[in-house]
Amino acid sequence: MTNAMDYELPEEMIMLRDMARKFAADRIGPNAREWDRTGQISPEVIKELGELGFLGVLAPEELGGAGIGYLGMSVIIEELARQCGGTALMVAAHNGLCCGHLLVGANDAQKKKYLPPLAKGEMLGSWCLSEPNSGSDAAALKTTAVLDGDSWVINGSKIFITNGAQAGVFIVHARTDPEASKAKGISSFIVERDTPGLEVGPKEDKMGMRASSTVPLTFDDMRVPRENLCGELNKGFYDVMRVLERGRISIGTLSVGLARGAFEESVRYATEREQFGKPLAKMQAIQFKLADMAMQIDAARLLVRKSATLQDAGKSSNLESAMGKLYASEMATRVCLDAIQIHGGYGYMKDIPVERLMRDAKLCEIGEGSSEIQRLVIARQLLDLPK
Ligand SMILES: Cc1cc2nc3c(=O)[nH]c(=O)nc-3n(C[C@H](O)[C@H](O)[C@H](O)COP(=O)(O)OP(=O)(O)OC[C@H]3O[C@@H](n4cnc5c(N)ncnc54)[C@H](O)[C@@H]3O)c2cc1C
Repeated sequence: MTNAMDYELPEEMIMLRDMARKFAADRIGPNAREWDRTGQISPEVIKELGELGFLGVLAPEELGGAGIGYLGMSVIIEELARQCGGTALMVAAHNGLCCGHLLVGANDAQKKKYLPPLAKGEMLGSWCLSEPNSGSDAAALKTTAVLDGDSWVINGSKIFITNGAQAGVFIVHARTDPEASKAKGISSFIVERDTPGLEVGPKEDKMGMRASSTVPLTFDDMRVPRENLCGELNKGFYDVMRVLERGRISIGTLSVGLARGAFEESVRYATEREQFGKPLAKMQAIQFKLADMAMQIDAARLLVRKSATLQDAGKSSNLESAMGKLYASEMATRVCLDAIQIHGGYGYMKDIPVERLMRDAKLCEIGEGSSEIQRLVIARQLLDLPK
């Protein structure tokens, strides 16, 4: 299928897309069913993703990254998601959240220390905001960080942390001023995996995105060097908002990739499967479904790439990122459900990829701000309401 806006992609982005498409088809697609079953992406493929530069898409070249920006990231993640949502989520959280936060908040010394190994894929990164009692209301987080001599002592817990099972570095958000109003007393910290007091819990047994790891974390008098404060003291939540504004581009493009996978599988199946003496694709009811799927996928891609292009031009994309993420994620669930319908009973079976794509797609309506929160973000900006 010709993708809308691909005609506007610069030549180097088309080459990047083709490289990502081939890698994903050769190395990810054939393993996706198995990784979904075992909950584990093969370490060799993670290494290869690093060698291709896919784990350093946002980091500048002088820090070991590919420096290809948000449009480049959106092109790559769509191709990975087309084959395996869990792999795409791992790459999205690593680049968009962990590396993204370092790029927004870290000082030069921190960037030089942490970005090169992350960008080369020598280690994965996690970003830790959600807690048992604060999800959508993230600024209500309860984890505390108290300065004691040359270290911050962090106590509390996090849940649902992507890449947590393998990550070498965690960006942890904690309350540093208990007196300040919710969002004003939060700071961010860089935490290395072997830090005493950090306990990584067991992997969650999830509905979808199963290839990516999701874990709870506990901090028990975890001592982090004073210099690992990332960004300004008590201003961490503003960095969190900037990171999410950009991170939502990756969830939007991931949704587009999942939906495209479901659509392409449906076209193939509808062409091959015959009922009443003709292929399903000759039936108008199926043709209309396919037409609607293709239209929605292209519309979502246009919205998501608009926010990526704004970010790459150094402009704010808060409204556009929320619109892209909201539209693309809800579209992906609809398209995947239609794909299952087109596959009939076979679509309900685990051996057929659309079943997995549908389970993966549902997460995109929840993670990095649920659909309801995106609607609030959009409405606040349209109506100029206080945040
Ligand atoms: C697979 C997976 C991976 C994740 N990865 C990470 C990660 O790497 N790092 C991280 O920090 N977090 C991560 N999360 C957490 C994710 O960001 C949260 O689940 C999400 O923000 C929603 O929070 P919650 O689950 O606590 O739901 P809640 O906030 O409890 O919301 C429950 C429901 O109420 C709705 N709701 C809440 N407030 C409002 C409101 N004001 N108006 C209308 N409706 C509202 C929500 O939209 C939702 O439908 C992950 C979650 C999952 C499932």
